[in-house]
Amino acid sequence: MRARDREILLRLNKEVVWLFVTGSVVVATLVVLFLLRTPPSYYEYDGFTLGTYCRIYVSSEKINPKSLAEMLFTELDRIYKKYNANDPESVLSKINVSQDWVDLDEETFVLLDAALKFSNMTEGAFDPTLGNLIHLWGFDQLDEQDVRVPDSSEIEVALLHTGYKNILLDRQKRRAKLLNGIHIDLGGIAKGYALDRVYQIAKEVDPDCTGFVEAGGDIRIIGPKFGSRSWVIGIRDPDDTNECVGYLYLDSGAVATSGDYERYFIVNGVRYHHILDPQTGYPARGIKSATVVASTAVTADALSTAAFVLGGKNWEYVVLDFPKSGGHVLLVDKDRNIRKSPSLSVYEADR
Ligand code: AMP
Ligand code: MG
Repeated sequence: MRARDREILLRLNKEVVWLFVTGSVVVATLVVLFLLRTPPSYYEYDGFTLGTYCRIYVSSEKINPKSLAEMLFTELDRIYKKYNANDPESVLSKINVSQDWVDLDEETFVLLDAALKFSNMTEGAFDPTLGNLIHLWGFDQLDEQDVRVPDSSEIEVALLHTGYKNILLDRQKRRAKLLNGIHIDLGGIAKGYALDRVYQIAKEVDPDCTGFVEAGGDIRIIGPKFGSRSWVIGIRDPDDTNECVGYLYLDSGAVATSGDYERYFIVNGVRYHHILDPQTGYPARGIKSATVVASTAVTADALSTAAFVLGGKNWEYVVLDFPKSGGHVLLVDKDRNIRKSPSLSVYEADR
């Protein structure tokens, strides 16, 4: 090799080494910067609405998370006020007192339509027309009045004024009429609807925002933790507030639990709770809690109430058939047995 060729080779080698060293430094710096980056910070907002404690836990790089959380709470409260059957000024009360057709705004029409869809799907186990029964039992005013178990004759009379088939919806004219003196109560679905609305608003404001929103134990995921991880959700032991019967890992969708521990009173050692069996008019028996994972909170909420009612009669149907409607179920029965949809296992492992 001539001296000049050797010189060129040497210079080339030096350039390769130089490129390699510079490249490594750049990559190492990027790795260090990636590892040191501050994870998005979450803002927590706690408040009372929808008749329960609500928690909003959000992070956003586009909007101040505090402002976002306040905006979302305002939406929860708006829906609570609109569909609170105890408030004579609410949109729902105006429908309940009318003997005639009532014109509905689009939101109310869609919500009633969804409620009836779940009633049909569960053959009436989910029934949004139990207002008279709920009032008779006093579950709408548990904190304000003395409790008592109604007479069976009173329950029979109240039952005559229930039944989801007594809601007539006129799709063309967007209006509703209630028959047989029924009163609508949306307590089994309104929380889920409100959580889905909050999700929509959060995503409209910042499509990349993450976090979750919780109302009385029902949870809607807004986005994965730190943008990539699952949220770990404990399923409460119905007999012990501080214990869990299992954990779920969700980075999207929703989970709702209906339990006999939420609103109840005890007379002569018997627990009378707020989830009523529309066939008997009495609190549904056989189940302590029903948890449902679904892609939307409205589905999880309605199906968890229905799963509670049906689970005591036919848990196999609930656990094996509800997944076909998009609800993956975990039941804790009266003997503390846990029954699960096989499809729930997807949410029991951290992916
Ligand atoms: P949740 O906690 O979602 O199961 O909702 C329970 C609430 O839904 C009760 O407090 C009542 O307002 C209402 N409710 C009770 N029983 C039923 C039922 N069988 N179907 C629909 N809503 C019900
Ligand atoms: Mg529900």
